[in-house]
Amino acid sequence: MKDEGKEKNKKGHLHPMTLMVNDIATIFRKMGFAIAEGPEIETEHYNFDALNIPEWHPARDMWDTFWLKPLKDRKLLRTHTSPVQLRYMEKMGAPLRVVVPGKVYRHEATDATHEAQFYQLEGLMIEENCSLAHFKGVLEQFFSEFFNTKVSMRLRPSYFPFVEPGVEADITCIKCEGIGCSMCKQTGWIELMGAGMVHPKVLEWGGIDSKKYKGFAFGAGIDRLGVLKYGIDNIRISYNGDLRLTNQF
Ligand SMILES: [Zn+2]
Repeated sequence: MKDEGKEKNKKGHLHPMTLMVNDIATIFRKMGFAIAEGPEIETEHYNFDALNIPEWHPARDMWDTFWLKPLKDRKLLRTHTSPVQLRYMEKMGAPLRVVVPGKVYRHEATDATHEAQFYQLEGLMIEENCSLAHFKGVLEQFFSEFFNTKVSMRLRPSYFPFVEPGVEADITCIKCEGIGCSMCKQTGWIELMGAGMVHPKVLEWGGIDSKKYKGFAFGAGIDRLGVLKYGIDNIRISYNGDLRLTNQF
């Protein structure tokens, strides 16, 4: 009977995903960023067109999309959190700093590292003299606090239609600090996110004067951060509601 009582009074646990989103919000708030959300059912305009991905653009193939019926309305489940960039620009104007954690959807086969629904972290900072150096500074500070160890970031050229230039951002391995280990595949670096300077066309779609303002944007998988922070190496475990996972936090 005693044990039964104990069972009843057991404390609940926050899901690791919630813990990470809370941490992310706390760190970015200290740097002056607002936290925003947006709709998961999006229009083609916000998810694609106004992000410089028109219907004919081959880059659309980068996002396998769940379209909603009736097709003539062209509604979809958002494939990234980037539409919130536009919604926030329209609402707040420049200058601005915002991060957007949220669910996104992809029409793809699922396995240990892919799910049809997962969490993304979007970030956007727009100011008069914003540059990639600001991006590097802000994100190095964020990751150093998030992983509780000093990290450096390197940028490699990449392509996303809504930024110019586009980059992939890596950080020094949080386990071996750059020496080389199994986590970083002996490279000393960990791939973390896509980013870049917001394309002038996207700023204009958001109602912001691209001659006066510049901005950086980034998108990262929160599940990926969970792999690195907590060692949750199978994405499906995060979403199946198994209490054996949650009870460890
Ligand atoms: Zn390493």
